[in-house]
Amino acid sequence: MTSVCSACGSSLQPDAAWCGRCLTPITRPAEATDRPPMWLETQRRERVSFDHVVYSRWRPGPTSFGALGRTVMTLLVLLGSIVGYPLTRGALVAFVGVDAPGRPFLVGYAIVASVVSLYLLVQIWKRARVA
Ligand SMILES: [Zn+2]
Repeated sequence: MTSVCSACGSSLQPDAAWCGRCLTPITRPAEATDRPPMWLETQRRERVSFDHVVYSRWRPGPTSFGALGRTVMTLLVLLGSIVGYPLTRGALVAFVGVDAPGRPFLVGYAIVASVVSLYLLVQIWKRARVA
């Protein structure tokens, strides 16, 4: 749709706020009501951006860490699984009042720690949207 200035009759840019020649402010009541609601425009814009969504394991995104952050978290998980053993054993002594038998408890702990660590590592290294 081409519109013309009501004051000087020159043709106007489609989304101009005022006339380029005489600077008369442009009011378009009919167009204003035809305009789609804001939420629809936002939705449309997001749908367009989905066309070039990029997922990455290495690059940081708005909701994810990059390679460095993930490596640090990985080390923390590994460290936690090692430190967790004496902590868990100490907690047993402190709260339950019995010392866990060495080797069977270590094996049991290793199994639980492996499962938990594996789960955490999968979460950490999950591909995340970066663009
Ligand atoms: Zn004009």
